[in-house]
Amino acid sequence: MAASAERPEPRPGYGAGEVSVSLDRNVAEALPPVLAALTLVYATLVPAHLFVLEYAAASQLALGCAIGAGLMGAGLVALRVAPIPAGRGHPAATALALLVLALSVLHLYLGGVPRETTTIVLLVLGVGLFFLDWGWFSIVVGASLASWLAVAAPNLPDPDWLHFGITLAIATVLSGTVLKVRRANLTRMEQLRTQHRVRQIELESALDQTERARSEGEDARKAMETAIVQVKESEERFRRLAEATFEGVLFYRRGLILDANPRAAQLLRVSVSQMVGDPVLNLVAPEHRNRAEGFLLGSGRGRDPSGPDTLEVEGRRYDGTFLPAELSVVDSLYQGDPARVLVIRDVTNQKRAERMLRRALEEAEANSRAKSSFLANMSHELRTPLNSVIGFANILLKRQSESLPARELDYLRRIQTNGEHLLALIEDILDLSKIDAQRMEVVREPVPLDELTEEVVRMLDLQARRRSLELATEVPANLRPAIADHRRLRQVLLNLVGNALKFTQEGGVTIRVVSDGDAGRPLRIEVEDTGIGIPEAELEEVFSPFHQIDGSQARSFGGTGLGLAISRSLCELMGFELGARSRVGQGSTFFVDLDPTGSPGSDGRGGQSDRRPRPESGNGAIDAVLPG
Ligand code: ADP
Repeated sequence: MAASAERPEPRPGYGAGEVSVSLDRNVAEALPPVLAALTLVYATLVPAHLFVLEYAAASQLALGCAIGAGLMGAGLVALRVAPIPAGRGHPAATALALLVLALSVLHLYLGGVPRETTTIVLLVLGVGLFFLDWGWFSIVVGASLASWLAVAAPNLPDPDWLHFGITLAIATVLSGTVLKVRRANLTRMEQLRTQHRVRQIELESALDQTERARSEGEDARKAMETAIVQVKESEERFRRLAEATFEGVLFYRRGLILDANPRAAQLLRVSVSQMVGDPVLNLVAPEHRNRAEGFLLGSGRGRDPSGPDTLEVEGRRYDGTFLPAELSVVDSLYQGDPARVLVIRDVTNQKRAERMLRRALEEAEANSRAKSSFLANMSHELRTPLNSVIGFANILLKRQSESLPARELDYLRRIQTNGEHLLALIEDILDLSKIDAQRMEVVREPVPLDELTEEVVRMLDLQARRRSLELATEVPANLRPAIADHRRLRQVLLNLVGNALKFTQEGGVTIRVVSDGDAGRPLRIEVEDTGIGIPEAELEEVFSPFHQIDGSQARSFGGTGLGLAISRSLCELMGFELGARSRVGQGSTFFVDLDPTGSPGSDGRGGQSDRRPRPESGNGAIDAVLPG
């Protein structure tokens, strides 16, 4: 936490480095008073030398002391302005001691009296009292002894000089002893202080942790209170929802009902208060209880995600009657404690609808079967008399055309054309009904396409000549037979060529077989005409049963509107695809793709029909013919 990050971490102990820094600070702190004292001493010595003490070089000595006082005073001011940085206490003190030493040696030198050694003795003792570091102490003491020797050497072994030399040596030993004792005491004190500081930090940290734990506890308590409020709110929301829902909702714990919504009471024909405390299993018909027990009391949806979501059972109302119900269970809370929620859905209507649907389906299937057999049977019954009607009309036309009045002749012709039209319609409807009932069977046999196209030309040549149209074939040499149903493929081609002739005024119709070249494999049969063409929007529609293009001559040419629908279904049954491309006023090309998975597509000469595969089960056209 932020609070703890700001606080220094408790230190595990204290090191020699820290103590020496602290001792150095001690020396630095003592420097200002020492400087002040020395300033006073040197200032006092100036008049003393001038007026009291009788030295030969009194004026030089007074000048030396004045310089000393000035330097000390300046040092004092300097310390006020810029305090000594950490760790620089001993170097500063050493510099001061060496300055004092220089002044003392000057004093000794100028005075020439061995007792002046006393100032150096005092200096050495003072350093022992002042310094707390052996290294710096040794520098000052070494310098003191060396400078004294430098001044005293010419006079040795004069007893006076010897005496003061010994005094200086003793002072040095004493000074060292004082330093040792002071240093030991102060070191100990520093260590104690550091320990104290560490403990204090540890204590503060412990206090901080305690405070933090207390505030975290407080937060947790608040979070819990909020959670309880939220649980209560969500329970309340759930209760309101349960009351508003159309499903029966029940809370239960350990198999006993705790509460329910009004809809549950209504479904079970009892009041909510009467239900409370009853076993939830009582709501299920006895013969379904084994199944429901696992679902309701065992691993329901709330506990076992792999278990079933819902269970359909026969529910039992309080008045003893039964209702088909769908149950679902989720784990939840009731008044803050774990409970389960049972949702009961009355599926009476759904069951009824399912029964009705099943019945309707069965009826539809039966109707369809009846319709198919009716068509199969009736087509024969219809064709026989119709053939007689057409046949007799033909005979009459041939034999009586001379003797009959013009009006009756016209009637006869109408009987003949309408009869033929009706026969074609019956044939087509029969085909469609077979396709629809999946009873149309095709065989797979080798079909020589040159022969087939010739056959088609032979059959329709007369019709072409009557309309002054050219009917040509383009069949490559060395063509391999196609694998198809001969009769059905001929039926398709007859329809396509018949249409082409019907919808072409001038020019001609070409039956073309496209192969893959040297291999001679037939890829496509095209029927191209130079007729009226088909608008692009109608190009797919013409394959729908009974679709004839409005405004074209289609209606005037008769036809059933079933030919292309049947042809497309037949092609699909043979594994082919039937498509078309056309330009209005320029002509149309209908093509049978014999290899729909690999053959080339449009040649880009116009709009092309979408040749999506159709369901093999026919096109439902028969339903349009005979509803029901
Ligand atoms: P039918 O020819 O008996 O009317 P089809 O299913 O064979 O029925 O044809 C459906 C319609 O498609 C025709 O009525 C006609 O409008 C159009 N159609 C078919 N072939 C051609 C064609 N070659 N040129 C122009 N229109 C055509």
